[in-house]
Amino acid sequence: MQLIELKNVYKRYPNGVTALCDVNLNISKGEFVFVIGASGSGKSTLIKLLYRQERPTKGEVYVGGVNVAKLRNGKVYKLRRKLGIVFQDYKLLPKKTVFENVAFALEVYGLKKEEIRKKTLKAIEQVGLKDKTRSYPDELSGGEQQRVSIARAIVNNPKVLICDEPTGNLDPKTSMEIMKVIEAINEDLGTTIIMATHDEKIVNKMKKRVVIIENGMIAKDVMKGKYKNEGI
Ligand code: ADP
Repeated sequence: MQLIELKNVYKRYPNGVTALCDVNLNISKGEFVFVIGASGSGKSTLIKLLYRQERPTKGEVYVGGVNVAKLRNGKVYKLRRKLGIVFQDYKLLPKKTVFENVAFALEVYGLKKEEIRKKTLKAIEQVGLKDKTRSYPDELSGGEQQRVSIARAIVNNPKVLICDEPTGNLDPKTSMEIMKVIEAINEDLGTTIIMATHDEKIVNKMKKRVVIIENGMIAKDVMKGKYKNEGI
């Protein structure tokens, strides 16, 4: 079974804009997939369907065998527990330390304090921020803040890590460092990665599967390592 499956998915917003048109997409467990396309092509909409921020107008969206298009609002928290989400802006709590920002994501689960501590430190270590555990967000660089948000996203060991333009605010060198962090999560933990980006350089360097969206449709789905910039 596919971990993620979109079947004949359409998304039309109330203002009449059709953001996705007959999208079919399968993603298996452990894959690393870039979703690329020009601004306004529908990348964010596709990503938002996966974590049920939006519902499709038509079609089915399966995540771990559950059709999340049909999921009632009261059940969305169950889906979100299976996912980690990373955004362009880091959404950290400014008055909490790195440790507290990451641990906070676990506190809803009613785990024992010691278990929270262990999982939190493991996630912080995975993103290479062990020596910043007690720092506050405003004491960190942009790249370090993004690492914290990644640690927070993986602390509960999600099946899928969804990234929406995670390097959008970062310079090229820092962006590559962040990509290495995300790649290591894919390789070390087996987490499936779905990343929307319009950063061609990154996509070319990483040599992963690339799904190209144009005007709300999948224009190309290129297997690992075969993608070269063709003018997006
Ligand atoms: P991308 O992430 O590739 O920039 P989006 O998925 O954000 O593309 O947008 C696809 C299209 O849908 C665009 O035309 C955009 O203006 C439109 N759109 C996105 N979100 C909304 C919304 N909440 N309401 C109306 N139109 C939207």
